[in-house]
Amino acid sequence: MTQANIGVVGLAVMGSNLARNLASREGNTVAIFNRSYEKTQTLLDEHPEAGFLPAADYAEFAATLSKPRTAIIMVQAGRGTDAVIDELVKVFEPGDIIVDGGNALFTDTIRREKAVRETGINFVGAGISGGEEGALNGPSIMPGGSDESWVTLGPILKSIAAVAEGEPCVTHVGHDGAGHFVKMIHNGIEYADMQLIAEAYDLIRRGTGKSPAEIADIFAEWNRGELESYLIEITAEVLRQVDAETGAPLVDVILDQAGAKGTGAWTVQSALDLGIPVSGIAEAVFARSLSSKPAQRAAAAELPGPSDAWTVADPDAFVEDVRRALYASKIVAYSQGFDEIVAGAEQYGWDIKKGEIAKIWRGGCIIRAQFLNRITDAYDADPGLVALLTAPYFRDALVDSQEAWRRVVVAATQAGIPSPAFSSSLSYYDGLRAERLPAALVQGQRDFFGAHTYKRIDKDGTFHTLWSGDRTEVQAVDSH
Ligand code: NAP
Repeated sequence: MTQANIGVVGLAVMGSNLARNLASREGNTVAIFNRSYEKTQTLLDEHPEAGFLPAADYAEFAATLSKPRTAIIMVQAGRGTDAVIDELVKVFEPGDIIVDGGNALFTDTIRREKAVRETGINFVGAGISGGEEGALNGPSIMPGGSDESWVTLGPILKSIAAVAEGEPCVTHVGHDGAGHFVKMIHNGIEYADMQLIAEAYDLIRRGTGKSPAEIADIFAEWNRGELESYLIEITAEVLRQVDAETGAPLVDVILDQAGAKGTGAWTVQSALDLGIPVSGIAEAVFARSLSSKPAQRAAAAELPGPSDAWTVADPDAFVEDVRRALYASKIVAYSQGFDEIVAGAEQYGWDIKKGEIAKIWRGGCIIRAQFLNRITDAYDADPGLVALLTAPYFRDALVDSQEAWRRVVVAATQAGIPSPAFSSSLSYYDGLRAERLPAALVQGQRDFFGAHTYKRIDKDGTFHTLWSGDRTEVQAVDSH
């Protein structure tokens, strides 16, 4: 009987495209299974060239696979994934490999990996980025799981991944939930990048009066420089689009309430747990939330804005300032995202190579960009780099941009145009570089009302003040 070297469970959009991608690569024979057989039949009918081996149930699916059996699950994240794992574990054997390619929360992946490992079966959580188009033509893949499973899985995933500058966009990220953790950060950075681009568009439009089509030309031009990226490229396309029904720019017809599937929020929740300030990503998540509150927005529409009308004296200079502000803010967002990767790796014991992560994001995924090569260079030059934005290349870029960045944030503030990601990124930059922060006062307040103690700049130890009006008495709580 012909056997398959790889199987796919779940044949909705993502699974069927991934199965077709696998089948199109030399040496792969793909077993397919879906809970309801209709999707299996449709895929067989529409793509006879793929040579799929269909299975009607889990036992047949297992029998169709050569050993070690390797199956990629592409089903609804959450309960759907757990249900499929429960069934596969019954028909697979020790040494086999179950891969979850869905958008799982990394802590679920850690839990699943632990439970499946007890059966002797390998469980790999693999972040797959690039949407349906990526699944079909080459995604960026972020697998976690054991070293043993990577031996079998590595060549298969390399065969279907996007290729950037001759290299497949896949690497063994780390053990158990590391892959889904890194995919989560990817999505968080994606939120920040999209929000920054949206703010740049808004400021140019309202500051210069340029039309969406004219701004599309600006983005197309930016895409030839240091901002070159998939998101800048598609922004130009979106802005150029005319609504067939009304003849208006499509962007003016689309309801201004942004949706979210939750991975940006996960990135921020995890950052809060890890104590990492990912302010650019958080502002992007909150900006979507704010946009989706029509009742509050309608009620607040009466509130006053600045009294003076806003006009930009030199539109070309302003556009260039916005470009620089966008680049500087983007550096901050990526720097924060990588800080979260470092903190997650430390917390969960993963050996994550930051430069490799930047490399596998160069193709197939939504945040693919030229700029990622600079991040790889920075971590190659200094693997222990404490903050990406201090690497020489990014430092120089920030030195070049910071005056323009400030002008843009001031202009936005004076004009009453929301720019949460631009301004929070600038505040982060100023906070990080500040010689002294008002955190000292916060420590004083905490000690006043809660005896939380503080440390001093002039001697070691922990101190508490007996607060009593003008005169205070200082106690050494724990000085060594
Ligand atoms: P989906 O709509 O999320 O899920 C539908 C699939 O799940 C169907 O095949 C369905 O089977 C199956 N399913 C649901 N519950 C099940 C259960 N209890 N047992 C067995 N099968 C079950 O599919 P999708 O949009 O193709 O997405 C698949 C995964 O990829 C999800 O985790 C999603 O979050 C992720 N995703 C990633 C991207 C990306 O860019 N990386 C984009 C989209 C989606 P039936 O046909 O029998 O109902």
